[in-house]
Amino acid sequence: MKFPLSPVRFRLALQAAFTLFNLYVGFRFAAFLAWAGGHSPDYVPKPGAVEGFLPISALLGLRHLVNSGQWDFIHPAGLTIFLAVLGMAVLFRKGFCGYVCPVGFLSNLLDHAGRRVGLSRVPPKVVDYPLTALKYLGMGFFLFSVFFAMDTRSLEAFLTGPYNSVADARMLGFFMSPSGLSLMVLGGFGLFSLVVRGAWCRYLCPYGALLGLLSWFGPVAVSRDRDKCVSCGKCAKGCPAGIRVDLKQTVRTPECIGCMECVGACPVDGCLEARAAGRRIPWPVVGLGAVCVLLLFWVWAKTTGHWDSTMPQAMLARLYAPFAAGN
Ligand code: SF4
Ligand code: SF4
Repeated sequence: MKFPLSPVRFRLALQAAFTLFNLYVGFRFAAFLAWAGGHSPDYVPKPGAVEGFLPISALLGLRHLVNSGQWDFIHPAGLTIFLAVLGMAVLFRKGFCGYVCPVGFLSNLLDHAGRRVGLSRVPPKVVDYPLTALKYLGMGFFLFSVFFAMDTRSLEAFLTGPYNSVADARMLGFFMSPSGLSLMVLGGFGLFSLVVRGAWCRYLCPYGALLGLLSWFGPVAVSRDRDKCVSCGKCAKGCPAGIRVDLKQTVRTPECIGCMECVGACPVDGCLEARAAGRRIPWPVVGLGAVCVLLLFWVWAKTTGHWDSTMPQAMLARLYAPFAAGN
């Protein structure tokens, strides 16, 4: 049976669904803050999913887990989401970047717009390689800082300190009332993504760099049958990561986000296929598998107490009250 959506539409549909979900999470979080600040009598539990926006805090939580065997009790859902995303990368390439991340969605929309107006370009290798190195430098900086430069006492102090405890509220505040400088920087990134294909994800996101390296060890890859290939180049033209799929036999590069758009673009039946450990798999398995990993981690965390904060309501209210709109 043929899958009802093309890879391009399937990806856009999943990305849109996750972005709507994130907006709903933001709405619930704002309602929680209104309660904490005394602006609403109705208690709304803090949505754990909001902690997915705190990957650096989750990285620190992971170090704490490795050191002590204890789960981060300040942002437990953040650590769960982070580990789910790492698991996703190992099993289904950069499924988080390709299907879940709201910045990836924005980047995808800008890429579509850039292509439509004829602005979108893939830089030549001489520019592409040094630009790609930027995100790996960022990743190296964060990994070194968290796992090597920080001593255990500083780690504990940061995790339980006032900044990290309400980092999600600070993040919401940043998005709700960005400064002029933040808007200019965001506008610059937007423009960059309009003219350079997938600019943010390919060159600047350290989170994606880490996921790419993990995906290298995974079983899923796009495979090209050289004998069937007619060298039309449609796969490379469609690739949001600017990969020369038409020149590779197997796409294993950490830059591949597993979007399967190259498979959808190929006009020759059976020439480009998704494979897992060498066996052909239907291409939707990559996106659906990535979502299933996230859901499985969520179910596990909800049922085992690794999702919701165990802090008493009164303490939560005291911590978050200053961040309620109107305070
Ligand atoms: S190689 Fe194919 S699956 Fe990988 S990013 Fe490019 S289009 Fe997507
Ligand atoms: S789209 Fe298919 S046929 Fe065309 S170059 Fe790519 S792999 Fe070959």
